[in-house]
Amino acid sequence: MNWLTKIKVFGDKIKRNLKKKFPTKEEIAKSDWTSCCSGPLLKKDLEDNLWCCPKCSKHHRISCRQRFNIIFGKDNYEILETPQPAEDPLNWKDTKSYKQRLVEARKKTGQNCAVMIAKGQVNGIQITAGAVNFDYIGGSFGAAETEAFIYGVQNSIDHSTPFVFFASGGGQRLFESAIALAGMTRTTLAVNELKKNNLPYVVCFVDPCAGGISGSFAMLGDIHFAEPGSLIAFAGKRVIQASLNQELPSDFQTAEYVMQHGFIDRIVNRKDLTNEIGKLLEILLKRNSEVNSELSNETSTNIEQSTKAAS
Ligand SMILES: [Zn+2]
Repeated sequence: MNWLTKIKVFGDKIKRNLKKKFPTKEEIAKSDWTSCCSGPLLKKDLEDNLWCCPKCSKHHRISCRQRFNIIFGKDNYEILETPQPAEDPLNWKDTKSYKQRLVEARKKTGQNCAVMIAKGQVNGIQITAGAVNFDYIGGSFGAAETEAFIYGVQNSIDHSTPFVFFASGGGQRLFESAIALAGMTRTTLAVNELKKNNLPYVVCFVDPCAGGISGSFAMLGDIHFAEPGSLIAFAGKRVIQASLNQELPSDFQTAEYVMQHGFIDRIVNRKDLTNEIGKLLEILLKRNSEVNSELSNETSTNIEQSTKAAS
């Protein structure tokens, strides 16, 4: 055996060992284990902590149903069936066909499109809520997702409920090109209809939210919440760095950085989100709440004082 063959045999041995060592994506998905800062972590433990790491408090990505379970309580909500427009209108194909990608995404997530709309109650207030599943083609927005968003807005208007949207995803879907881009205008117009009807529109940014999503309806909320550490961007950091030709801060495009620059109102931990959204809606809708009664007490005291001063 010459030296060249020996190296090849040694290389093959390393490859075999590496293959054994690293499980496939499907094996990881089926496993009871996941990982975070301190190494392996039981999915059950993570789930008990609302999919937030107990050590570093990283907010792991969750599906739409997991999101609704947290906001409304387990299975305490109704999923609305959203319209399904024609699939793959451009007959797109690259390394594989778009139709094939859709089949795989549906199998992986159990959803018909990346967006799910549900109705339920938060602090006794009926709301319409929407969420995006990042596992469905990166949470990207095509015609079906746009339709789902508009359907959610229409449901809010029909039933006079606030609209709460958990915005995440990579942006407009490449495989639907201009049709997906038109979604930016259509969702923006839908938000305008909500505002004409004086209905609260609350956005919560969830990691990661980028491209046409943050470039349209997600930035138009009356109030913007965000989960800690979420990536909120339009173009990617590397693209900006390359075009500006200078180093950007390490926390660039994180929720904390974006809040410092005025685009986010409040960063809220996942466990506190329901309560915060509930309290906010009570104030916006002028419902009886502790905050409103405190405010009205303050106002009446001020009126009393000014009346005494006047007399
Ligand atoms: Zn961690």
